[in-house]
Amino acid sequence: MKEKLNILRVSKIKKYYNDFLALDNVNLNIKSGEFVALLGPNGAGKSTLFSILSGMIQADEGDCLIDGNNIIHKSVDALKKLGIVFQQPTIDMELTVIENLFFHARLHGISLKNLKHNITKELETYKLETKINKKVRTLSGGERRKIELIRALLHSPRVLLMDEPTVGLDPKSRQDLLSKILKLKNTKGLSVLWTTHLVDEAEKADKIIILNKGKVLKEGNHNSLIREASTNTLGEAFLKLTEGKK
Ligand code: ADP
Ligand code: MG
Repeated sequence: MKEKLNILRVSKIKKYYNDFLALDNVNLNIKSGEFVALLGPNGAGKSTLFSILSGMIQADEGDCLIDGNNIIHKSVDALKKLGIVFQQPTIDMELTVIENLFFHARLHGISLKNLKHNITKELETYKLETKINKKVRTLSGGERRKIELIRALLHSPRVLLMDEPTVGLDPKSRQDLLSKILKLKNTKGLSVLWTTHLVDEAEKADKIIILNKGKVLKEGNHNSLIREASTNTLGEAFLKLTEGKK
């Protein structure tokens, strides 16, 4: 079978905050249709990498390519390929669901033709169609995250970046969100980078990259990481790899 191309390539990234090295020579690749979990404790550098990938801050060294487009030198082309859900909600609470989604669609130059129809269809898949004209403030945390996910995918990106998307959600909403992402990957071939500090969320990923104190310690899948660490569970493997590391 033909080797799938890397839709996202992160090479030799270094990022300093003054003298503090937050990312130390980070390499990370995502193939087309692959679900990659970036697993690391708080302070590992997950959101820093996320900010670099989404073009908000620049790395001091290294490159990020999204479908071949350098995030610094071809940022417009690169950002078109990315759907982004940030760690903190970035949805306007005082606008309605449809207003939030329309605004994003227009920013991306998406035609108005069929837009409301398409958004309604998407909302139906989450059983949220009755909320279309409700202010986001009236929605639950889980519902808001789903609206953010719909928004992130409106412009049909190739890669979805989600930074700790389940923080603050109840177990059922967490499970729903993860299932939805797995379905998108399986049905639409979406590539996903999902950051988390929760081992159980990383278990289902095609590839798990363990980041600690700005360094990639290991990458593999659930079984290979357990095997290499000689442990019974991924949680134990994660602790064994990260404990006592400078
Ligand atoms: P994570 O998302 O994995 O919790 P972050 O990328 O937020 O990690 O942070 C990585 C490290 O960089 C932490 O030690 C954090 O305190 C530090 N850091 C993050 N942002 C800044 C900043 N703007 N200025 C200085 N230090 C920062
Ligand atoms: Mg973070």
